[in-house]
Amino acid sequence: MTEFQLIDRIRARAPTRDDVLLGIGDDAALLRVPAGRDLVVATDTLNAGVHFPDATAPADIGWKALAVNLSDLAAMGAQPAWCTLSLSLPEADMAWLDAFLDGFLELAALHRVALVGGDTTRGPLSVCVTAHGLVQPGLAMRRDGARAGDEVWVTGTLGDAAGALALLQRAGAVVAPVCEAAPMLPVARSGAQTVPPALRARLDRPQPRVAAGLALAGLARAAIDVSDGLLADLGHVACASRVAIEVDVAALPCSDALAEAFPDEDQRRTMQATGGDDYELCFAAAPGARDAVRAALADARMAGTVIARCTEGGGVRAHLADGSAWSPPRSGHEHFVVESRAGD
Ligand code: ADP
Ligand code: MG
Repeated sequence: MTEFQLIDRIRARAPTRDDVLLGIGDDAALLRVPAGRDLVVATDTLNAGVHFPDATAPADIGWKALAVNLSDLAAMGAQPAWCTLSLSLPEADMAWLDAFLDGFLELAALHRVALVGGDTTRGPLSVCVTAHGLVQPGLAMRRDGARAGDEVWVTGTLGDAAGALALLQRAGAVVAPVCEAAPMLPVARSGAQTVPPALRARLDRPQPRVAAGLALAGLARAAIDVSDGLLADLGHVACASRVAIEVDVAALPCSDALAEAFPDEDQRRTMQATGGDDYELCFAAAPGARDAVRAALADARMAGTVIARCTEGGGVRAHLADGSAWSPPRSGHEHFVVESRAGD
């Protein structure tokens, strides 16, 4: 088995599109960007032993490697179009590659993303995906557009992936989280069956909120995808937009599965506010845009909840329904701490 046989297999299985003038097989891909569109580019790497334990199911690694990139495009309000895949593999293992491609290409097909090139090398297991999308000029949702007075929304529910990870850890099914800031893709061992499938799916197969991002482009003033934990990610928006963000933790949307698995409210809130791996969209919009936002999200078949408000100042603060301050018992998120202080 050689590098070229692996590339041949990827080429044979990779989907293409009409706007790919030249895909896998030449020195570089040749893509036609439509007139009147800006190109949006996002890259994320998953390293074995850093972002996921070594024995993770290859199909889940494939899905997630693309999903985290499509989530970044969604947060910009972009329509995904193409991607490249840089694979570093310890050995040329065709069975592993096929299983990896099963997950990767399943998600690519769902969003009509063409795999147009990449690189294949020998080394420690590492997957780097670059995703390319298209957006109308001026409509991309950046992190720096929120204004004092804006409402902050989140799509879907928060904390499910963190809940799944906590249950796997409790059951001894996961070796210690490899990376505190991004604990993902745990290995299923003995205790995997103790995790409700609804939570497990959120961890292993996140759904990038592409339709919601497209519907919100031009409506939301700022957006980010929740990957490192809500408070940490809101910290980036607060910082870029030079506003303070006041989060009502009692309003954080919670799935039935999470509520059932974690009856303790504060434990649940901690997962929702700091857990990460949610891949929901968090965005700021003017209060006057509320009905338009609701309609846009309904078109995208996504629930949306107002969870925070932007005010003058800086940093992120969380409070309970009665207005009393709330902070997570354990926060590994540098940004939340630092930016909160900066705003005091
Ligand atoms: P070069 O030496 O010119 O970089 P390569 O042998 O690395 O060429 O790659 C040959 C072709 O296969 C290129 O078109 C490249 O984009 C594609 N390719 C290599 N690895 C991958 C991969 N993991 N996924 C998709 N395409 C790949
Ligand atoms: Mg190459």
